Amino acid sequence: MSDEHYDLVILGSGSTAFAAAIKAADLGKSAVMTESRTLGGTCVNRGCLPSKNLIEAARIYWEAEHPRYPGLAPATLGLNFKELVSGKDEVTRSYRDRKYQAILDDSDKFRVLPGAARFADPHTVELDGHRLVGGQVLIATGSRPAIPAMPGLEKVPYLTSDLLTSDEPIELFEQPRSLVIIGGGYIGLELGQLFHRLGTSVEILQRSPRILPDHEPEVSTALAEALDDEGQRSPMRSTTRGSISGPPRRSWVSSAMARAWRSPSSDSGGARRPGPTGSSLRRDGARTPTRLRSTARA
Ligand SMILES: Cc1cc2nc3c(=O)[nH]c(=O)nc-3n(C[C@H](O)[C@H](O)[C@H](O)COP(=O)(O)OP(=O)(O)OC[C@H]3O[C@@H](n4cnc5c(N)ncnc54)[C@H](O)[C@@H]3O)c2cc1C
Repeated sequence: MSDEHYDLVILGSGSTAFAAAIKAADLGKSAVMTESRTLGGTCVNRGCLPSKNLIEAARIYWEAEHPRYPGLAPATLGLNFKELVSGKDEVTRSYRDRKYQAILDDSDKFRVLPGAARFADPHTVELDGHRLVGGQVLIATGSRPAIPAMPGLEKVPYLTSDLLTSDEPIELFEQPRSLVIIGGGYIGLELGQLFHRLGTSVEILQRSPRILPDHEPEVSTALAEALDDEGQRSPMRSTTRGSISGPPRRSWVSSAMARAWRSPSSDSGGARRPGPTGSSLRRDGARTPTRLRSTARA
């Protein structure tokens, strides 16, 4: 395998990676991105775009049944969840083609190589038959769902915050009758409201005393009131140290569970940049204190 040299080697092909590759090209530098899943990363494929698409559909469905103006009579719209999901997938594919693939097609300055990139040394990344050597290497591997160490979880079918993905087997096509969501952060809350508005019975479990613990307390209060006004059950204070029991689909997690926490993808072995000793960023105590530069020395 011969070395391929670039000014910038980027792990990932999400929005961060594209912004960096475009900037590098603007500066006359060569760049290459790598991708282990789907071109475009989380936002377009399983995050912002598909969630906002279905959230808007759920809002229309909900507001038809709960009109805000006097003189409007409540109406129940027909609901076909599978068709909603197909529509969401179409929007996702079309956006990915127009905003990501089209940029690649139009540029001779950078490209994306498929495969899971692994560091061979601080400047060299290997993936599926390629050895990429970068003057600079950018880790833009984003996040993935974090699965809690919860006894019994492996025995029940559960979803993750990647449930809105498309063209991957983990995509959700059936509307859950009920849904327990672990985590009262923004992803858990917006997915919870989306499913609640479509008629799923939603229960949110959270560790902290309030939802959105990373935000201003006033935001938590206002949002809790808004969800309460819509008849969504108040998030339940709970720790994920509990256990889950009962046969799948008959336990209190009746049809599905969504795990809404996420952890950095760079935690997964190969994407860590080797530090001076060849070990991982974490073990070397590498930090990104200023300008997001790693302290791992090249
Ligand atoms: C349900 C949900 C809703 C969201 N809604 C919003 C929203 O409304 N607004 C908002 O601003 N943000 C939202 N986000 C967050 C947003 O999606 C992320 O902040 C954004 O996608 C981060 O972009 P990124 O390029 O840094 O990483 P990502 O988009 O995650 O891209 C990283 C890419 O790297 C790839 N990768 C990982 N490891 C490797 C490896 N070893 N080799 C090669 N490739 C690798 C991954 O497959 C991925 O495609 C949402 C997220 C979720 C899950």
